[in-house]
Amino acid sequence: MDYLININPAYLNLAYVLAAVLFIIGLKGLCRPRTAVRGNILNATGMLIAVLATVPIMLREGYGPGKPLVSGFSTIGLVVAAVLIGSVIGVFFALKIRMTSMPQMVALLNGFGGGASVLVAGAEQLVKKKDIFEGNAVELNVSIAILASGLIGAVTFWGSLVAFAKLEEYKSFKKPFFYPGLKTVNALLGIIAIVLFVWGVMNPESTAIYWALVLLASVLGLTLVNPIGGADMPVVIALLNSYSGLAAASTGFVLGNSVLIIAGALVGASGIILTQIMCKAMNRSMTNVLFGTMGPSAGAPSADDVYGGKVKSTTADEVAMMLDGARRVVIVPGYGMAVAQAQHAVSELAEYLESKGVEVDFAVHPVAGRMPGHMNVLLAEADVPYDKLREMDEVNPTFSQTDVAIVIGANDVVNPVARTDPKSPIAGMPILDVDKARTVVIIKRSLSPGFAGIPNPLFAADNTLMYFSDGKKAILDLLTALKE
Ligand code: NDP
Repeated sequence: MDYLININPAYLNLAYVLAAVLFIIGLKGLCRPRTAVRGNILNATGMLIAVLATVPIMLREGYGPGKPLVSGFSTIGLVVAAVLIGSVIGVFFALKIRMTSMPQMVALLNGFGGGASVLVAGAEQLVKKKDIFEGNAVELNVSIAILASGLIGAVTFWGSLVAFAKLEEYKSFKKPFFYPGLKTVNALLGIIAIVLFVWGVMNPESTAIYWALVLLASVLGLTLVNPIGGADMPVVIALLNSYSGLAAASTGFVLGNSVLIIAGALVGASGIILTQIMCKAMNRSMTNVLFGTMGPSAGAPSADDVYGGKVKSTTADEVAMMLDGARRVVIVPGYGMAVAQAQHAVSELAEYLESKGVEVDFAVHPVAGRMPGHMNVLLAEADVPYDKLREMDEVNPTFSQTDVAIVIGANDVVNPVARTDPKSPIAGMPILDVDKARTVVIIKRSLSPGFAGIPNPLFAADNTLMYFSDGKKAILDLLTALKE
């Protein structure tokens, strides 16, 4: 134990720098599916180094086995217990959660980050109160950091729980809760939060103000995220991710822990960059996202109006015959491909068609699926070469020269109402122009809507054939028909 206490602080700082460098290199690795696993391992190693380097610091500050924080446990014992419990829970969920539920898990993880910041800052608020009563001065930046952690952490926690419920498609959260005065209510809550914040800074000993701010921020988290629905959730998830980083960074200031500040700042900055990318991809304004004002507009036409007597269904044999004479085919994957785990079958279909001289491309919409890069990850897992994946701007002009567009489990990202109906919840969102292909084959199980909950007139278009089936089965049957 003495050996640990006597470690030169310079080495510990060096360990923190090493952890920070590993975080940065790891993040860079996460940019590409090929390097993502290595990036993840580097990040986890950085975190382990950071945790280990914290132990001697705590011992030096007097939190050793002789100084139990909770009766019966030394603080070090608590750190070890927390690492073990956290690791077991982490491994359990990583193994158990299905790929299609990843976005929900990410939403929860963001929320837990925010919740942890609220609790740590709350505990430090108590320490600060004791210090003040003992006549010690408290630095202004610590007071600000505590209140910022409480505010951002609570918004993140409750906002993430609502995001989780929406992604999990819980019934009560499926329809965005929006009423005319909501913007005013949010603005009012925001103003009260600022007043409480300033009041808290001026009265650093008051734990009541801290918890009042947390309570208010909790309501704000609910009212900011709840009205957002339709197809706008990707932006919200990215933003909450960024908030969780900011909350962690301010908790780093509270604890005077540089590695937490760096890690939080990295998450905060990358989250904001992702939010901007998502806003651009969905043609949404960042201000609207920040203030939770992306409410849905007037109701969409009913499914009966859109589909009534106009939908044509097809079979594997018919599609195989069509593909026989095709020169260019574009495959458009969506969330349903992830649900059906059809990526390997799709990759096999593409290979088969190419072996017959057909030009095949994959059109990937930036918000297809349920998390950023969802389709890219799945297709990379199925060994689809990167140069086959076309982004929206690149592929859209080519649909008019495409013989067959095969849409597998995509719905909102190919819904033409985004272009034609300014009142639709997805109005203005750029879509993949599959309707411009000569023939469109849609593979899905029914006429149910996608995440935005609105009918899709593409399914009733003259050049569309609906191939009703589970995604994987449909592609495997199609391959069999093609080979026969
Ligand atoms: P959608 O959610 O619009 O549609 C998915 C379709 O897949 C459904 O219509 C469903 O129809 C079909 N499907 C489900 N299971 C299967 C299966 N086993 N086999 C075949 N089809 C199946 O998906 P998109 O990818 O087009 O759009 C993504 C939506 O999710 C957008 O609205 C986006 O904004 C939102 N979103 C995206 C996030 C992101 O970061 N990418 C995060 C959060 C939300 P059926 O039941 O009839 O089979």
